Amino acid sequence: MENCIFCKIARKEIPSNKIYEDKDILAFNDINPAAPVHFLLIPKLHIDSLIDVQDIHQSLLGKMLSLAPQLAKEQGCENGFRTIINTGPAGGQEIFHLHFHIIGGRERLPGMIHPG
Ligand code: AMP
Ligand code: ZN
Repeated sequence: MENCIFCKIARKEIPSNKIYEDKDILAFNDINPAAPVHFLLIPKLHIDSLIDVQDIHQSLLGKMLSLAPQLAKEQGCENGFRTIINTGPAGGQEIFHLHFHIIGGRERLPGMIHPG
């Protein structure tokens, strides 16, 4: 996708604070962190959002999910972290290239749901 900001980051046309890269996946720190640890995990393949995920993407998404705890641990979130996938305009998604927010490093994190 020519004008997608995360595709540009994946192509190194825009700099990022990269914490992980392989042939399919990139992780980099969020430019506007909501907590001490806040990075984004993206597929290099452009997928607009979780709504657009198809069966052919299953192994890629599985790889992203299993990578999330490994990277979170490396970033210092041994006791856990929050994974957020904003999906679509009503889900608060602003950048339409699928991404997982991995957030941690303090006790109360944004987006927490507390029953009762
Ligand atoms: P979302 O609302 O889920 O689409 O979140 C988009 C996220 O991308 C926000 O948390 C932004 O702070 C972050 N962001 C936007 N531009 C950049 C960038 N150039 N590098 C790193 N993170 C970015
Ligand atoms: Zn993209």
